[in-house]
Amino acid sequence: MRALVLHGPDDLRLEEVPVPVPGPGEVVLRVTGALTCATDAKMMRQGGHPALPPNPAPFGHEACGVVASVGEGVTGVAEDDEVVVANSAPCGACPPCAAGRPSLCESIVYLSGAFAEYLRVPARIVQRNMLPLPPGLPPRRAAMVEPLACAVRGTERVQAGAGDEVVVLGGGVQGTLIAGLLAGRGCLVTLCDPHEARRERAIRFGAVRALDAPRDPAAVQAVKAAHGGGRGPAAVVEAVGRPEAWEAAVAIARPGGEVLLYGGCAAGTTVTLPTFPLHYQELAIRGSYHHTPDAVREALARLAANDAPYDELIGDEIALEQVADVLRAGSGEKRPVRTAP
Ligand SMILES: [Zn+2]
Ligand SMILES: [Zn+2]
Repeated sequence: MRALVLHGPDDLRLEEVPVPVPGPGEVVLRVTGALTCATDAKMMRQGGHPALPPNPAPFGHEACGVVASVGEGVTGVAEDDEVVVANSAPCGACPPCAAGRPSLCESIVYLSGAFAEYLRVPARIVQRNMLPLPPGLPPRRAAMVEPLACAVRGTERVQAGAGDEVVVLGGGVQGTLIAGLLAGRGCLVTLCDPHEARRERAIRFGAVRALDAPRDPAAVQAVKAAHGGGRGPAAVVEAVGRPEAWEAAVAIARPGGEVLLYGGCAAGTTVTLPTFPLHYQELAIRGSYHHTPDAVREALARLAANDAPYDELIGDEIALEQVADVLRAGSGEKRPVRTAP
């Protein structure tokens, strides 16, 4: 079969490889839906990632498919079943898992290899995070279960509720999904992004207002002043992944408010935070990483219900040959990848 394989920084190759054979507890899927992700672009640029096996590494982690073969000891799944897989599964036994924090699992198992005709699903994911495809859910939308599960997990870390003003910084896929989830909860969401098309899309996802991205201290103060009668919004979600946006998020929040630092920044970066609002204004700052099995199930139910215009986040289909160029261009849109010959 043909498969995309990562060999090093900016070295993603289309190769002829053997069709995977499932080991004990494993399942092999014929991929029917696979999507590109901003994380793929980062992995390709870096030439490796903690969520990838050592190079040469099978590539692509957002997938759904049809069960093609089943390994020894697998129960409850049969050939020809249509399934969705999350891109990881926690162990359920380590201290963070035992404490109810599976997104911090110390021995998490990741999925990789969706950009190929066939995908081997690790036993742990078969057991914990492989789910039947809900009837009527198109495979390419189902493959969005991982990014939406991350957004679901992120919004679980936000306490703001109905009637509360929330500012979301960043209108990429993640910022848009988060805006939609918070709007669905009744929050009054303002999304900030430099691109007009993304601002308009945020309104269709339920944001009540969309503003340009604040790029200097005066613009940051203007976003704050536009909320809470000048005091600032109840919550700010940073979904850009840059230190300056993290700092802006803290500057926009109102006294007693909350900040979710959601976007992952480049390794080794740091931020400078003012001590005054953290101490005298009791600002609550949280992070959010990855997702949980519960968030995966909620995300899949939402995709099946199509409770937001999710398909707007998915662009035109591309061939395996185009993936590297599309990731390099980094449009921010998700692209379905045609994996069948
Ligand atoms: Zn992803
Ligand atoms: Zn664990």
